[in-house]
Amino acid sequence: MNRDARIFVAGSDTLYGHALVDLLRAEGFTNLVGAGADEPNPTRPAAVESFFAATKPEVVFLCAGKSGGIGLNRSRPVELMRDNLLTTTTVLDAAHRYGVTKLLYLASSCAYPKHAPQPLAVESLGTGPMEPTSEAYSTAKFAGWKLCEAYRREYGCRFITGFPANAFGPNDDFSADGGHVIPALIRRAHDAKKQNAPELVVWGSGTPRREFVYSRDLARACLFVAEHYEGQEPINLGGGTDVSIADVARAVTDVVGFRGQLRFDATQPDGAPLKALNSTPLLEMGWRPETEFRAALAETYAWFLRHHTTEI
Ligand code: GDP
Repeated sequence: MNRDARIFVAGSDTLYGHALVDLLRAEGFTNLVGAGADEPNPTRPAAVESFFAATKPEVVFLCAGKSGGIGLNRSRPVELMRDNLLTTTTVLDAAHRYGVTKLLYLASSCAYPKHAPQPLAVESLGTGPMEPTSEAYSTAKFAGWKLCEAYRREYGCRFITGFPANAFGPNDDFSADGGHVIPALIRRAHDAKKQNAPELVVWGSGTPRREFVYSRDLARACLFVAEHYEGQEPINLGGGTDVSIADVARAVTDVVGFRGQLRFDATQPDGAPLKALNSTPLLEMGWRPETEFRAALAETYAWFLRHHTTEI
């Protein structure tokens, strides 16, 4: 990809989008359009239309769309589904009509069937029902993938869909209850340390295992795929190993410096026993994650300290 290609990261304020903008700048891409205040609201066709008319992006990374942990999925299924459906229909339509040469759409691993064999391979997509608690959001993400395929089939658009592993990093939602497991535990371990609390509550039994990817590594995977992947199939964006939630909690307390006990709260749901991606196609192309899990957690906590410490 030319270093002066006009690149639009839709959703530059999201966890993925921030990491991508930072990576692209660090890699010497000089022509990012819409990264910051002039990014259009991706759910508004008129705003997206005038943005594409003015900036004519050549490459698009579609990271926009609301998301959240199990709490938000339970309380706001309508907002999550509407926002994601509107975002994909609006941005893909503009990308097609303004001749974008390559687009990478970031879907979500929760669009996989709940009982698909682990690690999840793209062949399993659409073979069974999804996890009911996040079904509205996941259906919108699934539809986003299918819409990319339809543009490819009908108009020959180079629209690719990536399914990322559970990502974490700077700019995540660090609220104690609404966020995903890593930022939520960072927030609660930090608060517990400040308050000298004797224990940190971890939801569920601690035995479920999840594959995590650091947002900077995910951004590297996105750039790699945009530059090198020409396949018709969607592609999983993982390649790390899975970690138990208990080990995640221990790593978080080490990094944060919380010395109390962990208490596993069995009244909270465990979710699936294992969620990991089969990222063989990506790994066979030569891509590897490069940030060790604890180092990534430490960077994430350092970012949290710079941005959230006044709140407690
Ligand atoms: P998501 O990250 O909320 O989408 O949910 P997942 O089902 O992928 O994984 C979260 C796992 O971490 C589950 O086993 C939860 O029980 C466990 N967990 C432990 N503490 C927390 C927490 O504070 N927040 C969240 N979201 N999950 C937690």
